[in-house]
Amino acid sequence: MRNITTPMLLTWLLAAAAFYSPLWGQTDTSVLVIQGGTLIDGSGAPPVANTVIVIEDGHILQIGAGEAVPPGAQVINASGKYIIPGLIDSHVHYDMPWLHRLYLANGVTSVRDLGGSIERLLTLRQEIAAGNILAPRMFISGMPINPGSVKAMNLSSAREMAEKLVEAGVDGIKVTGYTPDELREIVEVAHAADLIVYGHTGPKRGNRGPGARLAIEAGLDGIEHALGVLEDAMDRDVPVPDDYDPFNRDHIFRHWYGRMHSVVDPDLVQTIIQMMVDDDVYFAPTLVNFDRNFVKRNTPETEADPNLKYIPEEEPSFFGRFGPSDREEWRKTLELMLDATFRFHQAEGFLIAGTDSPGAALPGWSLHQEMQFFVEAGISPMEALKSATLNNAKLINQDHLLGTLETGKFADLLILDGDPLQDITNTEKIHRVIKNGMVLNPATLLEDNLRQFGNRGERHFDRTERN
Ligand SMILES: [Zn+2]
Repeated sequence: MRNITTPMLLTWLLAAAAFYSPLWGQTDTSVLVIQGGTLIDGSGAPPVANTVIVIEDGHILQIGAGEAVPPGAQVINASGKYIIPGLIDSHVHYDMPWLHRLYLANGVTSVRDLGGSIERLLTLRQEIAAGNILAPRMFISGMPINPGSVKAMNLSSAREMAEKLVEAGVDGIKVTGYTPDELREIVEVAHAADLIVYGHTGPKRGNRGPGARLAIEAGLDGIEHALGVLEDAMDRDVPVPDDYDPFNRDHIFRHWYGRMHSVVDPDLVQTIIQMMVDDDVYFAPTLVNFDRNFVKRNTPETEADPNLKYIPEEEPSFFGRFGPSDREEWRKTLELMLDATFRFHQAEGFLIAGTDSPGAALPGWSLHQEMQFFVEAGISPMEALKSATLNNAKLINQDHLLGTLETGKFADLLILDGDPLQDITNTEKIHRVIKNGMVLNPATLLEDNLRQFGNRGERHFDRTERN
């Protein structure tokens, strides 16, 4: 035993107590204060200048102008800066470790996964919630329901698969191929468990889905991707080449969806949108996904995107290369999607920001681009922001904890260098990300990711063959 005198021990204990306990008037590292920024709380209320946000144990303890700063707290000076809620991406496919910091660095503090390995997602959701992995809060759908997945899981029906997913503890159910009758059964199972059902509604050609109208009538709660809405608003079939194969994805997206703009009737778009609004069906158009996958496919601009260094090299794609004429056709289709998005917003529909990242839509970066598309469509920056915060929190039934900055909610927020209500691209100018009260520096997160996974994911585990 080491020879420690009683006075020495006492001095050490007192020093330790002084460091750790607020009673001794020293730094209490468990209280964080953000002082002086302009608060945009996400509720739609006007911004409030010179606010104080007091954060303790991962939650907002006090918030507003004129709040006192508790003595001894760790203080972040946010004067001249803007504070918004942490962003939520409602459509990701999240099961790789290289994604954690990329979403966080871009201010995405929660994600909703729309389809992947159920075991992997359940584990990931649990590890993140327990604080063992630094990553966005995760909400999951598990495997999407379609005839292929029902068969792969050795189940007899879509209903049985819905029951299994509910039992596993998913946060919602996604469908990607079904008949209206099957959809009614899935909806029945999901609603009985207080879960919503969402998914693709087409392509109708090739019989992969019933289309938007029938899906809405059968009780679907949300439509992912603007394609399904436009597809059901065509007044005739898209003219396709003789060798068109409705089961070839490159053909579907090049010849069918890419050229659908020539046959879409805006009045029919309006009719479907009104049906969605009347039936409380949300709309997540995922515009950035179509822009990056098709409108900007194979352009020097996207191929030289500096953020690609954080992204592992793409798997071989089922899409062929696009030339200028393919892109131009898609640009016209995307314009119709923007128009449909604006019409939906004008009709007071429940608009949702989701990206379908990773993939051509880059994880994290793409959620800002989706908000920029909403603004380009004619929607205000405030409403675009809400689509990625409060609306998405409501979608996952978490608006009592997330989505706005209020007393008692989780301390998930972004400190921005510019005013996003003046220019929505200012959401990209992130000074700090706070998740669950933890202060994160975006530049450090990105550097760490590059160090761990290498340029274009060359050191990424899941990409190397191993047993
Ligand atoms: Zn998806």
